[in-house]
Amino acid sequence: MKIISSPLELKEYLKDCNKTVGFVPTMGALHEGHISLIKKAKRENELLVVSIFLNPTQFLKGEDLDKYPKKDEADKKICQLGGVDVLFFPQISDMYGRDEVSLLAPKVRGFVLEGASRAGHFNGVLTIVMKLLNIVNPTRAYFGKKDAQQLNLIALMTKQLFMSVTIVPVDTLRDADGLALSSRNAYLSPSEKKEALKIPASLYIASKMVSKNIMSSKEITNAMREHLAPLEISYVEIVNREFESIKNVELKNTIILVEAKVGETRLLDNIWL
Ligand code: AMP
Repeated sequence: MKIISSPLELKEYLKDCNKTVGFVPTMGALHEGHISLIKKAKRENELLVVSIFLNPTQFLKGEDLDKYPKKDEADKKICQLGGVDVLFFPQISDMYGRDEVSLLAPKVRGFVLEGASRAGHFNGVLTIVMKLLNIVNPTRAYFGKKDAQQLNLIALMTKQLFMSVTIVPVDTLRDADGLALSSRNAYLSPSEKKEALKIPASLYIASKMVSKNIMSSKEITNAMREHLAPLEISYVEIVNREFESIKNVELKNTIILVEAKVGETRLLDNIWL
């Protein structure tokens, strides 16, 4: 596995490779969820590039940038064992200059849900993903459905800016108890982890209601909110694949999303119906 920190060196390295390139961008502290993206990208491409970069511009003031888990050595081992060909591991100064050009998330889809509770977050996400895609120029880039709104906005960006990469969505990986894997789960105490299970359980309740033909968004979100109490809920929403609120579940076109705080930790989860 080659480890490269310079964007220009990576561009040069990949320039004439004449292979299909799969790319998995991450912020490190890798877990099985990341590994499932890596495995899929490995299967579907001739060359595999993973990036680890804790992107400061997608964290708002007062968020967990400084305490975000860092596991550089373990991450390198995981990449090596996962058959990663190139690990891109830049520093902040490799990725950002002083007076920056930046991208703005779309005014509607970028500022609802996660974009409402973290105003500006998706500007930072789109800016860094654009930079990474321009450096790696992959055939396919892999993103988790767990971050559904992020995935939607990245797919929108690549379409609207006529980029040639294919964005590949990957299913959410959960632990044996149903909790969606996340680097932030490391913040949870054992009792908080138990509390956090209310989140996937609320989504399970929603899917059960839909299987009984209860399609009303209001009825479903009320039942979910009831189950989530007393967690601090940022949002429980039912949207279509364009991220527009819908009054009734539309099969094959619906995402049910939850963000709730467990202790000090914000956790996201969703299901696609
Ligand atoms: P992050 O390091 O949190 O930025 O995540 C890197 C990529 O892994 C993103 O595309 C995430 O959506 C994806 N990801 C994170 N957690 C999971 C999970 N539990 N299952 C599948 N993909 C995930």
